Amino acid sequence: MVKKNIRIGFDLDGVIIGKPPFIPNYIMEKLVRNPTGKKLGYRYPKYSIERKIRILSHYPLFRPPIRNNINLIKELYKSNAYTLYVVSSRYSFLKSRTRQWFGYYKLRRFFKEIYINDFDEQPHLFKERMIKRLGLHVFIDDDLLLLKYLRTRSKDIDLIYVKDHEKYVRGILK
Ligand SMILES: [Mg+2]
Repeated sequence: MVKKNIRIGFDLDGVIIGKPPFIPNYIMEKLVRNPTGKKLGYRYPKYSIERKIRILSHYPLFRPPIRNNINLIKELYKSNAYTLYVVSSRYSFLKSRTRQWFGYYKLRRFFKEIYINDFDEQPHLFKERMIKRLGLHVFIDDDLLLLKYLRTRSKDIDLIYVKDHEKYVRGILK
């Protein structure tokens, strides 16, 4: 058997899972980004009503898989040369929704492990930590600011930017 030796990490929302079609992008940005200052930062939904709305909006039917990228994942999986992980900064309150999503679309088996942000860390710090811990060779994300941050922290990884509205893997960030 061929050894699986290239470790690839995938972000979840915007890479594997589509965003809900009825919420415009700039509203999504407002909801997740921290508006203060120029530094990269993300909001944690403070109020329980906001978390409830987020949980509702992550209902699997509202969040279809991004087919082109799923096809790529299936090919990578079949080739046996890669180990695939999900590293998503979804906060802990979305844990069961995330499990439900993978069950609903039957996509769990393609990934060795699925990690979400169990301790509600700042997303870029969580991803940086997980990339190191898993020793990922490649990381794929749709958040350009986050990828730029990761690039400043490590030169040894291929960072691939997925442009959300085009819904396919775009190119490697140098
Ligand atoms: Mg994303």
